[in-house]
Amino acid sequence: MEEIKQEGRKESLNFIEQMIEKDLAEGRFSSIVTRFPPEPNGYLHIGHAKSICLNFGLAEKYGGKCNLRFDDTNPEKEETEYVESIKEDIKWLGYDWEDREYYASDYFEELYKMAEFLIEKGSAYIDDLSQEEFNKLKGTPTQPGKPSPYRDRSPGENLQLFREMKDGIYKDGERVLRAKIDLSSPNMHMRDPILYRIKHVPHHRTGDEWCIYPTYDFAHGQSDSIEKVTHSLCTLEFEVHRPLYDWLIRELEIYPSEQTEFARLNLNYTVVSKRNLRTLVEEGRVSGWDDPRMPTISGIRRRGFTPAAIRKFADTVGVARRNGVTDVALLEYAVREDLNKVASRVFGIMDPVKLIITNWPEDKTEMMTGKNNPEDESAGTREMPFTKELYIDRADFKEDPPSPRKWYRLGPDREVRLKFAYIIKCTGFKKGDDGSIDEIYAEYDPETRSGQDTSGKKVKGTLSWVSAPNAMNAEVRLYDRLFITENMTEIKDDIHNHLNPHSLDINTSVVIEPSVREAQVGDMFQFERVGYFRVDEDSTAGKLVFNRTVTLRDTWARAEKK
Ligand code: ATP
Ligand code: MG
Repeated sequence: MEEIKQEGRKESLNFIEQMIEKDLAEGRFSSIVTRFPPEPNGYLHIGHAKSICLNFGLAEKYGGKCNLRFDDTNPEKEETEYVESIKEDIKWLGYDWEDREYYASDYFEELYKMAEFLIEKGSAYIDDLSQEEFNKLKGTPTQPGKPSPYRDRSPGENLQLFREMKDGIYKDGERVLRAKIDLSSPNMHMRDPILYRIKHVPHHRTGDEWCIYPTYDFAHGQSDSIEKVTHSLCTLEFEVHRPLYDWLIRELEIYPSEQTEFARLNLNYTVVSKRNLRTLVEEGRVSGWDDPRMPTISGIRRRGFTPAAIRKFADTVGVARRNGVTDVALLEYAVREDLNKVASRVFGIMDPVKLIITNWPEDKTEMMTGKNNPEDESAGTREMPFTKELYIDRADFKEDPPSPRKWYRLGPDREVRLKFAYIIKCTGFKKGDDGSIDEIYAEYDPETRSGQDTSGKKVKGTLSWVSAPNAMNAEVRLYDRLFITENMTEIKDDIHNHLNPHSLDINTSVVIEPSVREAQVGDMFQFERVGYFRVDEDSTAGKLVFNRTVTLRDTWARAEKK
């Protein structure tokens, strides 16, 4: 019995969890340390969210710690704006790095000393080759590289040159520091990789202090080691860097962090690459990094996706050892599931048409009570005025339904319930000059008030409505996929050729029930039978702007039998 349980448990662990549990069981570490290492050169996207959930999630699960480390070794592309946005995004997802906010640039001094240590050991040298000569000698994956004429400089000479590089004697590109490993290795990353390069560029944190900067390979593993990271998790493209990661740790005789790779998250109809996302921003194809169509964390936050949904999604996707493409519908599903639990229901009419209750007194207003969330009693109720003139959705009326027996909404002589209010019967309609419906007329049955219905009447259709004199007009932004091509990882041409020209549709004629008038930026609503919406930052005192987060599968399926 015990054994079966144990086995069942093992099976449900992913390969990283299995590795961690084994390491902990064998006593390799007393507790784990992971890290999330963003380069502050753009805003985080949904792929990063997966990495955040993985690293912080594992630390949570195993009682360890996850560090936030900005991998800020490249002074050219990095900015403080990005650092701030990254912190905001991680906090919003619900994770906390406590006081462990680290920067690779904080280790520049230590990394520099490590480089001198390698030089003194004879394991690194200064190379003066031009880029062109460098390329000529490096070989191909099937042909070994050739040694640079500077490869056998003495440690003393190397040390002096390295110090001169640091002191700013040389121009950008004039000299580099290379590891001395193996020019015939089939792994190009082991062919004397560059460890330091000269860049007379100020850094967002260290200013003009340095004019030499470590490469990714020299900074990343060493930063892990300085922080005593036990499990350094990165995406598959770094698998080929792992021998170098291990070589540096061995040569430097430092804390042996270990790198493990997992597959990047790719979503269909989406690009997850900061470089491409930046292009969209810079060229004005979207309104900014936080455009609700963007797969950035700030974009999907503005769109209305919730942290709980993203965490659930990351968990569902899991970790894989092979790259694949995940269906964006899985993310939207997680969003719907969460919003169904937390979003307040309201009536919002996307394409309003007047409905006049002819037997209702002119000036009478009756307050109807609506449930805010059928999934959550504690969400309470709200009052909404019912008046002679109402709005319903144009799509809920058909003068001549094509299959009359399956049409449960309104039409001449048909009866429906106005949700939380009365059953009405359509008695007529008026058309405009262009043939479209201008007004619909109906009579209500006073015996059918919701909750007090004594009529015994049964109707199959239930419609949303809004009192016309009390309606609030709003702007609603309807989003569709940003790209029309399913697998964006496979395209060879420009991403612009794949943009969806209809990814944004603005509807300014939406009317919403008056209870929403006091809504605040960030509030989430379900417009009944329509979808989920979030109040956008662009809202003003006079006018609310909503983003459609996701559409809704019609949960009032009785309104129109399939
Ligand atoms: P991009 O190509 O979008 O710039 P990146 O990997 O260069 O991504 P970093 O800031 O270096 O961006 O990434 C920080 C962390 O997030 C790294 O550990 C990286 O492996 C991880 N990460 C980045 N993109 C994804 C993704 N699509 N899926 C999972 N993890 C990712
Ligand atoms: Mg990167």
